[in-house]
Amino acid sequence: MARYIFVTGGVVSSLGKGLSSASLAYLLKSQGYKVRLRKMDPYLNVDPGTMSPFQHGEVFVTDDGAETDLDLGHYERFTNISSKQSDNITTGRIYSDVIKKERKGGYLGKTVQVIPHITNRIKEFIKKDITNEDFVICEIGGTVGDIESLPFVEAIRQFSNEHGKSKTLFIHLTFVPFLKSSDEIKTKPTQHSVKELRSIGIQPDIIICRSQQSIPLDQRKKISLFCNVPIDNVIETVDVRTIYEAPISFFNQKLDKQVLKFFKLKPKKRPNLNPWKKITKIVLNKKKSVNIAIIGKYVNLKDAYKSLDEALVHGGIANNVKVNLVRIESDNLKNNEIKTKLKNVSGLLIPGGFGKRGTEGKISAIKFARENKIPFLGICFGMQMAIVEFARNKLKIKKAGSTELDRKCYPVIGLINEWDKDGKIIKGTDKDLGGTMRLGLYEAKLRNNSAINRIYKSSSIKERHRHRYEVNNKLKNQFENKGLIFSGMSPDNKLPEIIELQNHPWFIGVQFHPEFKSRPLSPHPLFSSFIKASKNYK
Ligand code: GLN
Repeated sequence: MARYIFVTGGVVSSLGKGLSSASLAYLLKSQGYKVRLRKMDPYLNVDPGTMSPFQHGEVFVTDDGAETDLDLGHYERFTNISSKQSDNITTGRIYSDVIKKERKGGYLGKTVQVIPHITNRIKEFIKKDITNEDFVICEIGGTVGDIESLPFVEAIRQFSNEHGKSKTLFIHLTFVPFLKSSDEIKTKPTQHSVKELRSIGIQPDIIICRSQQSIPLDQRKKISLFCNVPIDNVIETVDVRTIYEAPISFFNQKLDKQVLKFFKLKPKKRPNLNPWKKITKIVLNKKKSVNIAIIGKYVNLKDAYKSLDEALVHGGIANNVKVNLVRIESDNLKNNEIKTKLKNVSGLLIPGGFGKRGTEGKISAIKFARENKIPFLGICFGMQMAIVEFARNKLKIKKAGSTELDRKCYPVIGLINEWDKDGKIIKGTDKDLGGTMRLGLYEAKLRNNSAINRIYKSSSIKERHRHRYEVNNKLKNQFENKGLIFSGMSPDNKLPEIIELQNHPWFIGVQFHPEFKSRPLSPHPLFSSFIKASKNYK
């Protein structure tokens, strides 16, 4: 049976449970063990797909089309193991499954309760789809003491009781603040958080203490004494200079060693930290830098484009250059501001998005990049806006637009059944808006000798999608005659997947989200190429 490691958090949120779990997973994997990571989220949404990025940051999409928590992105980037639908669950999903079963009479007349019915369903999720993994690391979202996370904490307590201490390990991540006024590190919040955890039946085996500075031995001993954890299992994690240093830092603090010791296991091989050392060095020692503008609705929110920001940094790693992100809010972007805002920028990226707000500013910025030959990458919505811009300004279809934004426009972007009838463009109705999104991995065929073909060095690729609207394929010839090539198509040749502009150094739009598949240890070719072109601009 796999060994289960449960990671909870205390004192405050945003301590980096995801990054700690991902780093531990990397360390165990690189010592020869098979690892799986999963996340339990305590909110009532069935999945984060419907949540605004303002609320919850980016929605991370998996190969199998699940819309999940952004921590799964960390997991993938650190371990290079693709997550699945079965690796993320929310309270909403658990309750909806239980209620569905209840409606079908599945509980045979019993009173349906949090214990045992909800907790049983959580335990099923923890074990679901696990085959020959050595370790399953389960992160519990939120902070211990929240009403919402209680059923999850109760479920992992039961799980440990049922499967035995030799198969389950509890890691608790807390905050150890430094008080400037008294020049002291304070352990009390940690003591209280562990007390809270123990009051619901869980004694942590390892405590990870997040702190701004190293915790003196005396304070660690105090935590060990009050929290009933051996001193070697009080592990500190001091703020790192870049997230890529986290696996090195946890290795130096012997987190992986203590985990293996707990399970009475030995490393199967030496962990390899060289890649992280190399990346850290590149990221920190950049003499050269390149400015990339991102124009979007949520640019001021740190986590809203998490994978995208990361993928751009990876592109920088591949080119040995530091990437400075110039975040430009699209909402009030005026036409006459674009030139000044893009003045010191060597590349423009328009990311995915939904809804009308801020679109005209994006379209004007794309026109500027097209005309001034600034490297441009449009992702999903960004690609769709590039099509709208080109249709309006080069094909002279003044009313060109997307039906997502304007029901009365000429649909160069629309729901497929708005334009796919016998080659004729027909207007859709409101009913069509309820269509589901195209989610997850889909294939695209790349045209020979196109820029995209050279970038991927392949004629067939698979990338992750998350969109409802499509480029109107009926206008393909018109676009191509004017130099905008549809260089990637779905295998049935119906859906444009990639566009690229001829007579421009680098102008590419993609209907999918390449950022979800970029890894620090293997940067995505599209981002590497985009940063290379931006580096060579001017
Ligand atoms: N809103 C657009 C669509 O649904 C684009 C989505 C996106 O950028 N992820 O097609």
